[in-house]
Amino acid sequence: MTKTPPRLVLALLCVCALLGQSCRLGSDDSFVRIDRLLLGTLVQITVGGERKQAQLAAEAAADEIKRVEALTSFHASSELTEINDRAGDESVSVDPELAALIRRSLELSRQTDGAFDPTVGSLSTLWNFSGEKPRVPEASEIADALASIGRDRVTVDQGAAAVRPAEKGTALDLGAVAKGYALDRAAAALKRLGVEHALINAGGDIIVVGGKTDETPWRVGVRDPRTPGGVVAIAELTEGAIVTSGDYERYFESDGVRWHHILDPKTGYPATGMQSVTIVAPDGVTADALATGVFVLGPEKGMRLIEETPDVDGFCIDGEGRISMSSGAKSLFNMKR
Ligand code: AMP
Ligand code: MG
Repeated sequence: MTKTPPRLVLALLCVCALLGQSCRLGSDDSFVRIDRLLLGTLVQITVGGERKQAQLAAEAAADEIKRVEALTSFHASSELTEINDRAGDESVSVDPELAALIRRSLELSRQTDGAFDPTVGSLSTLWNFSGEKPRVPEASEIADALASIGRDRVTVDQGAAAVRPAEKGTALDLGAVAKGYALDRAAAALKRLGVEHALINAGGDIIVVGGKTDETPWRVGVRDPRTPGGVVAIAELTEGAIVTSGDYERYFESDGVRWHHILDPKTGYPATGMQSVTIVAPDGVTADALATGVFVLGPEKGMRLIEETPDVDGFCIDGEGRISMSSGAKSLFNMKR
């Protein structure tokens, strides 16, 4: 077994994917930028406008990300862990916001035919990618975990804001949407404060509010999955989110195999045949869930889903490094190879 790359290093590599863009913005007087370690990564919040107000707005956005982190954490004690601890017992009353996020996640699971599935929690615990010692579980352990997975095992009563995994062992893991949701909430906080030009970068996953102060679009680089610091594409965005799921984000190697953190809920093992998937959508939750789901579905089924989904575009890089793009992505991305 070898190492899992330290998360901070990963975050910095992802930030490099911005082609130095954020560095230039940092020295531009019309923007304020704050950097925070949140969601296990480096979060950069860049806000345009009058300096003092932009600073306050950026801090408010960071607070919002912190709040979402506390609500959705799979590891630290949170409302989510309370739901998981009480699986199989009675419904757990939660913040209506968390209930709504879980409901939306179950909907997206249906949309991806279970490729994205927020009930993979028992598998996540087994593989332990975010822990010190991730490992390849025994086949029997995987079989046991698979028996606890499935979106139909969780009911959400939105009216009462109550959530119930029906059986003991079923566990919700919102790791594949939490960052996207945090970006959404942070962008909403900025808009509430009157911000019209901003970019939030959470370890390479990005949401933008309006274009830059001169009304030109933000230029966002997408990391090449096999060349640290390299860029495979550049998108120009004035609204919405861009999220990438990749096999380089969290992994370990054993017997020459790269065991990465995006799991196929049908097999219990890391999904095969993809290096990375990049999705652009109006909101972060949709982009985040679909990036994970398309990664699991593979290039053909995955790109078909993106083609069928309104307002969503993207591209993927398969196991051999071949790129497939949705039709809308061709005008959205400037490909570098
Ligand atoms: P992402 O980086 O957005 O693709 O999310 C990966 C994270 O989501 C993992 O670290 C797990 O916590 C969780 N996860 C892994 N596989 C899946 C899946 N197929 N569906 C939903 N969540 C997943
Ligand atoms: Mg995701």
